[in-house]
Amino acid sequence: MSFEKVCIFFISAGISLLISCTTTRKNSMSKKFAANPVVAHRGAFKKNGFPENSIASLKEAIRLKCTGSEFDVRMTADDSLIINHDPHFNKLEIEKTTYAELSQYKLSNGEKLPTLREYVLAGLENNTKTRLVLEIKPSGIGKERGKLIAERSVALVKELKAAPMTVYISFDYDILKKVIEVDPAASTQYLNGEKSPEQLKTDGIAGADYHFSVFKKNPGWIEQAKKYKLILNAWTVNDAETMDWLLKNGFDFITTNEPELLLKKTARPTK
Ligand code: MG
Repeated sequence: MSFEKVCIFFISAGISLLISCTTTRKNSMSKKFAANPVVAHRGAFKKNGFPENSIASLKEAIRLKCTGSEFDVRMTADDSLIINHDPHFNKLEIEKTTYAELSQYKLSNGEKLPTLREYVLAGLENNTKTRLVLEIKPSGIGKERGKLIAERSVALVKELKAAPMTVYISFDYDILKKVIEVDPAASTQYLNGEKSPEQLKTDGIAGADYHFSVFKKNPGWIEQAKKYKLILNAWTVNDAETMDWLLKNGFDFITTNEPELLLKKTARPTK
């Protein structure tokens, strides 16, 4: 074999090895999570009457092997990151109340108001299948505080070694940009629905998580998102007909209050 041929052999062998390593890594990453599109909105709360955003609802989503469980993060007056959807908890404005005051009140199942630390730790326990879909709520106080919540959430997720399990979502574009600035490897999805997939791609946002009506109005965005290899997610889809439409259109994720119904639709027949 001539010297040139030997060189070409080694170069092509190297390239094949590189390609196979990359593919293996990609596959093992994608295999890690449940192979269904079901994201339980505020955890799997409804069927069992759990409070939304409770650790019980997160655990139920994990038990069901949903591919994701969504929850909302806010910050108290004394900078504690907590899990709650509304800006108020028991009529107290979260951003203007300390964690000690807020946590005097329990959730309806007796759980204490979860901190982000407690929630993520609970989400890491016996869980390899369910992503933690962390929504950062914008601050009512101002943009800068919203970005601070993003920075602190990402830092905590990193500290708890939960980064590979976590997806960040927000209605505030600047919050997602801050997430990427702090952790360039973070996976982000935008919620507000006015940005084209092309724009998201340009800004390094990994996915469009829009109200399903946005995709119905702009069906071209579905193809555009696929072209740019963006993740497609839709909220909050609770009826069978819309679930079927999104499944037919190849959505990666569907965020729902009815995870059991969507799991039934997407279950693979057992052999
Ligand atoms: Mg939410």
